[in-house]
Amino acid sequence: MRIDVLTLFPAMIEHTMNESMMWKAQDRKILNLQTHDIRDYSQSKHRQVDDTPYGGGGGMVLKADVVVRAIEAVKGDSTARVLLMSPQGRVFNHTKAVELSTQDHLILVCGHYEGFDERIRDLAIDEEISIGDYVLTGGELAAMVVIDAVIRQIPGVLGAEGGADRDSHADGLLEGAHYTRPAEFRGLIVPQILTSGNHGAVDTWRRRQAIRRTWQNRPELLRTAPLSNDERYYLAQLAIESAEKEQSSQSHKESKG
Ligand code: SAM
Repeated sequence: MRIDVLTLFPAMIEHTMNESMMWKAQDRKILNLQTHDIRDYSQSKHRQVDDTPYGGGGGMVLKADVVVRAIEAVKGDSTARVLLMSPQGRVFNHTKAVELSTQDHLILVCGHYEGFDERIRDLAIDEEISIGDYVLTGGELAAMVVIDAVIRQIPGVLGAEGGADRDSHADGLLEGAHYTRPAEFRGLIVPQILTSGNHGAVDTWRRRQAIRRTWQNRPELLRTAPLSNDERYYLAQLAIESAEKEQSSQSHKESKG
């Protein structure tokens, strides 16, 4: 996959993306990551890329002529999908990461300052992506979040040791608990099932742990998670268990008060 990042701070991307898994993906020729300094596409003497907004108001606005020229130069005749990093976009998630991982070529455009001249959106952007409902200083961190989440979905990037298909969100659930040696730590003992050698029972236990963790931390995900009838029954038991706990803590408070 080829990914081009258009930014005012290419070093931010280069430093971070040349480490760990993202470096391995490039080394294995799975990812061809290129950064481009938007300033190189300015035609003004002082490499100006922004200007004050028409109509007044604070902040500086990235200029349409510079940014569109940069996108067009990098895109050339390719069919690359051009993504604008923006807090106004649809919020990025696992489904979007998987979808983008099937593309051959992405161009990510990072903003800075107050915003973009609207004509950049009109002329050169296919889609806006936000990484969450908050505002960052620039699009570089957002672009790196997107690249990392997308690239680890490509077969061969993670290797056998950590399949992305077992991670949280891959099957609509959060991942359950993990344990490693020692079997006992500060009085906490590894669940016996994990040392039983019964792989079927371990799989069922892991699934149930995932349902439990999701129920505790992100119950709304369970509305759409694909669950078997047995798993739905288990979920109903969890709901009863937690209602009973809630009731008993309520009666405890009342008896004390
Ligand atoms: N004034 C803009 C607004 O309210 O929508 C925010 C501009 S922000 C200070 C500068 C740049 O950071 C944006 O152009 C965008 O590229 C990036 N950015 C900020 N928050 C982001 C988010 N949640 N997701 C993706 N990119 C973000």
